Amino acid sequence: MKAAVFKGKGLIDTQEVLMPVCGDMDVIVKVMACGICGTDVHIFNGAEGAAATTPPVILGHEFAGIVEEVGAKVKDIKIGDRVAVDPNDTCGNCYYCKNGLAHFCQNMKGYGTTTDGGFAQYCVVNYKQIYKLADKVSFEEGAMCEPLACCLHGIDLCEIKPGYRVMVIGGGTIGLIMVQLAKMRGAAKIILLEPVGEKRAIGAKLGADIVIDPIHEDVEKVLAKNNIEQIETVIECVGLKSTMLDAIKFAGKNSVAMLFGLGNPDDEIPIKPFEIFRKEVTIKASYINPYTQGRAVSLINSGKIDVKSLISGTISLDELRDTLSDPSKRQKGKVMVNPWC
Ligand SMILES: [Zn+2]
Ligand SMILES: [Zn+2]
Repeated sequence: MKAAVFKGKGLIDTQEVLMPVCGDMDVIVKVMACGICGTDVHIFNGAEGAAATTPPVILGHEFAGIVEEVGAKVKDIKIGDRVAVDPNDTCGNCYYCKNGLAHFCQNMKGYGTTTDGGFAQYCVVNYKQIYKLADKVSFEEGAMCEPLACCLHGIDLCEIKPGYRVMVIGGGTIGLIMVQLAKMRGAAKIILLEPVGEKRAIGAKLGADIVIDPIHEDVEKVLAKNNIEQIETVIECVGLKSTMLDAIKFAGKNSVAMLFGLGNPDDEIPIKPFEIFRKEVTIKASYINPYTQGRAVSLINSGKIDVKSLISGTISLDELRDTLSDPSKRQKGKVMVNPWC
């Protein structure tokens, strides 16, 4: 089969590799769509993402496809099923798994990070990682289940109450999912900060009440003009030091500043404890997708969330390397890889 193999910083080769072997408890998925995530870019650039990666390995952890083969002991999944994969396979046996914190599993197997993932024509996964897609859901939408699951964990931790004013910083895939989830949570006003005009327009379509270009507009003035005197929740979805500082700056009294964007491991930001004290800001972070994949799949299957508008295009395995190395190729939204084109 054809696969894009990550061989170390800046190196990805598309090549023929052996078909994966299906164990008794495994399912082989014929990958039909695999999203490119910020984590893939971090790993490609040699940084550590959410998980440690040892090349050579096939990246890609946001994927959906068709069941090609099922192991002898697999129940309730059959050849031909249309499925999405939860890439984070936990051991069930360590301290964290046994205490309801499986996302901190000490023996976590990550498809597309620690072990082979979805930038290939086929991928073998444990059957418990499989979730069924509704017939009307496309594979590209199905591949959005994993990022949506991560956002669901984040939005849960924000504890948004109906009537809250929520600021989302960054209108990329994650930010535009957060806009929709904040709306579902009952936010009274959603403010989106995003420098790219097309993304602001999608944000407005998906539920942002106020869209601001933070580079060319004075955010505070726009907030004042709209009578927003207090913001209860800020969700930072960029991962830059400047936007993390903005999250704390714009967070109001008794608020939550959710630092959702993945920063570089060595980044540091100066925090003024006095500012945190004066406002009682709770600074939070959110790590991967504990127990949220099922909800993500049911939201996408129900059609109650728009992930289609976030997908900017589809590329082949051969184009993956260029797309990972050139940020301009990923600027318009989520890029999907179809290993069959
Ligand atoms: Zn991801
Ligand atoms: Zn564990």
